[in-house]
Amino acid sequence: AFEVLVVGGGPAGSAAAIYAARKGIRTGVVAERFGGQVLDTLGIENFISVKGTEGPKLALALEQHVREYEVDIIHLQRAEALIPAGIDGLIGVRLASGAVLKSRAVILATGARWREMKVPGEQEYRTKGVAYCPHCDGPLFKGKRVAVIGGGNSGVEAAIDLAGITAHVTLIEFDRDLRADAVLQKKLYSLPNVAVVTSAQTTEVLGDGRKVVGLAYRDRTSGESHVLDLEGIFVQIGLLPNTDWLKGTVDLSPRGEIEVDSRGQTSVPGVFAAGDATTVPFKQIIIAMGEGAKASLGAFDHLIRTSVP
Ligand code: FAD
Repeated sequence: AFEVLVVGGGPAGSAAAIYAARKGIRTGVVAERFGGQVLDTLGIENFISVKGTEGPKLALALEQHVREYEVDIIHLQRAEALIPAGIDGLIGVRLASGAVLKSRAVILATGARWREMKVPGEQEYRTKGVAYCPHCDGPLFKGKRVAVIGGGNSGVEAAIDLAGITAHVTLIEFDRDLRADAVLQKKLYSLPNVAVVTSAQTTEVLGDGRKVVGLAYRDRTSGESHVLDLEGIFVQIGLLPNTDWLKGTVDLSPRGEIEVDSRGQTSVPGVFAAGDATTVPFKQIIIAMGEGAKASLGAFDHLIRTSVP
């Protein structure tokens, strides 16, 4: 059995594994895809102390750093169930293969994924104008025209943020009204370079073969189609935590995020969590890494206070 078993090999899981291994305890990592969302990222310019890097490069560096230590990496395996500790004091993690890994402490770091619009052009122009993270990619659109899809809190926050960087922002909302908090809406409507279109369904991302040049939408009231000329589209229709497999074991928020305290402890003793899969606000690489380190130290603290039965 492991002393610490990490589920997830993104920034949070990698940091958790390194911090655990450095304590000299038996550490394992199960990851479906080592590197996580970082693998899907092109340029990264906000990983402090590294002026600029690329996702696949950082993902490789994460794995190499973990491999510097005696960490058992169980790659290309999907965790399907968490089994709280029985009388042996060991927590189980059941894999899709049917195998059950046992550990005294478990750190959940299964990350999240952006909800996509699923319209023609979205995949083709991903990282070529279609973006999901305003904190990451906003500055790439300095002085350009962009759209934000989604009028919830994240969409309206993104539009306010982008209005300060870009030339013009069009916010597109599917429903008749925006769903964001009133204070955010008030701020949004006070900005001179923002237009809001409601009852609008995005139908296509338009490109010239290399990059985004526009967005097509249908007015849901009149049925008419429209085209906006722009260079960037920020999709803000939800971030889905990869926590379906945990339903019924650890406490999840209404959005499905794992509830954690300030030490990364979940509702199940000995089970910790970190990164985008948790309730910790702001989903970023540097934050996920810090949270992974924190959950790992939390798990170590738990281990030295609990004796082996
Ligand atoms: P993830 O990176 O999502 O990793 C989750 C890990 O868990 C993966 O290894 C996955 O395979 C594994 N996993 C999931 N489910 C299971 C399961 N059931 N069993 C086993 N393994 C499982 N952030 C920045 O700071 N700067 C940027 O420039 C930036 N750009 C981004 C661009 C894009 C396109 C995207 C999608 C995200 C970007 N982000 C950026 C956000 C950043 O990538 C995330 O905040 C960060 O990767 C979260 O780390 P994590 O370890 O919590 O989760």
